[in-house]
Amino acid sequence: MKANCWMGRNTVEVREVPDPTIMNSRDAIVRVTSTAICGSDLHLYDGYVPTMKKGDVLGHEFMGEVVEVGPGVPNLKVGDRVVVPFPIACGDCTSCAHGMYSVCENSNPNAGLAEKFMGHAPAGIFGYSHMLGGYPGGQAEYARVPFADVGPIKIESGLPDEKVLFLSDILPTGWMGAEMCGIRPGDVIAVWGAGPVGQFAIASAFLMGAERVIAIDRFAYRLRIAERAGAETLNYEEADVRDALQDMTAGRGPDACIDAVGMEAHHAHPTIYAYDRTKQATRLETDRPYALREAIMACRNGGTVSVIGVYAGFLDKFPMGAIMNRSLTLRSGQCHVQRYLKPLLQKIEDGDIDPSFVITHRLPLREAPRAYDMFKNKLDDCNKVVLSA
Ligand code: NAD
Ligand code: ZN
Ligand code: ZN
Repeated sequence: MKANCWMGRNTVEVREVPDPTIMNSRDAIVRVTSTAICGSDLHLYDGYVPTMKKGDVLGHEFMGEVVEVGPGVPNLKVGDRVVVPFPIACGDCTSCAHGMYSVCENSNPNAGLAEKFMGHAPAGIFGYSHMLGGYPGGQAEYARVPFADVGPIKIESGLPDEKVLFLSDILPTGWMGAEMCGIRPGDVIAVWGAGPVGQFAIASAFLMGAERVIAIDRFAYRLRIAERAGAETLNYEEADVRDALQDMTAGRGPDACIDAVGMEAHHAHPTIYAYDRTKQATRLETDRPYALREAIMACRNGGTVSVIGVYAGFLDKFPMGAIMNRSLTLRSGQCHVQRYLKPLLQKIEDGDIDPSFVITHRLPLREAPRAYDMFKNKLDDCNKVVLSA
C-alpha cells in the first residue's frame, strides 16, 4: 500500500510499504478514506520529537471503512464506517478505567524508552515516534487499529467524512482544553494559537458558557477564522499581549488561559526568539515555551492555565514563581479522545457544531509532501489539510 513516511527533518515521502495485518485478536484493519495533518505532525516534521526512524508511517487523525476484524472485536464488522481516536488504549487498565485513555498503561510496547524521557510512559499513539509505541500511522491507504473493541466510534448517520473526521483528535482536544478551564458564566478565556486546535478550543469555550474569548496569533487569516467564531483577537506582532489582556480585563487578566501553541512557539522579538531557537536547535532545551510563559504571566490570580499545545521535554525559564505565589492551576494532557467521542458526535449530529469549518485544503494522499510544506509554512492561507486515499 501507499503511505506517507517520515524520512528525516523536513522530509516526508509517499512510499510503498507492506499492508498491515491483524496481529492480535483485538485488532481491526481500516481502509482509510480521510486523514488530516496536525500541528503535532509538524513537531515530528521539524525533528523535535525524539525516537523517530526513517521510513516511519505518519498520521494520527484518520477514519475509514473496516475491512478486517480480529476475533476479539465483537462490536465492529466489515463495512462499518469508523473514526479512530489518536491515543491507543486498552480500556481495562487503571488509567483507562478513570477515563485517562492517553495514559493507558497497556498500549505502549516501548514504555522503557518513554520512561527515560518522562518518568512514566504514556499511551501509544499512531504515527508518533518509537517512544510512543512505534505504531504505523493513518496517513496511508490502510491502518492496523489495536484495541479496536475500545477506540473507534461507528458513524451510522451518513454524515460526510469532513464533519466527523476531527473527532479523531482536534475537536476533542479543543474541547478538553476548554473543559480543563472549569468555565463559569461570565468568564473571559484567552487562547494562544488560532490554529485548528485553538479554533476548536474557542468554539468549545463558547459552548461551555464563556462570556468572552480572546484569540492570540500572528496570522491575520487565522485570526479572522477566530473572529467568525465570536472571539476578540490580538496579533502578537502588533500588540504587547500581556498589556493588551490587562486592558481588556479591567487589569485582572483572563480567568483562564489556553496554550494551543506548544513547543514551537514564535516570538515577535528577534533576540528573544534567537535565544530559545538556538538552545532548541542545539538540544540545550527541547521546547520554545513563549506562549506558555505568557499564558502563565497573563492569567488572573487564582486562574487556570490549560495546556493542550504539545511539549516534548524540558523548558527554560519556566515561571514557577507566578504559578505558586498567585495560586494558579496548571492542567494538561494529550487528549483522552475516547472519553469525548460519543458526546461530541451527538453535538455534530444535533448541529451544535460543524467541525468542517477549519478545512481549507483537500488533497490526495500522494500530495502529502506538498501538503506538509503548505501547512507548515502557512502558504495559501492554509489552516487544515485533509488528505484522501
Ligand atoms: P498549528 O501549527 O496549525 O497552529 C499553531 C498556531 O500557534 C499557529 O497559528 C501559530 O502562528 C501560533 N503561534 C505560534 N507562536 C505563538 C505565540 N507565541 N503566541 C500565540 N500564537 C502563536 O497547530 P494546531 O494543529 O492548531 O495544533 C496546536 C498545538 O496543539 C500543537 O502543539 C499540537 O501539537 C497540539 N495538539 C495537542 C493535542 C493534545 O492532545 N493535547 C492534540 C492535537 C494537537
Ligand atoms: Zn493531531
Ligand atoms: Zn488502558
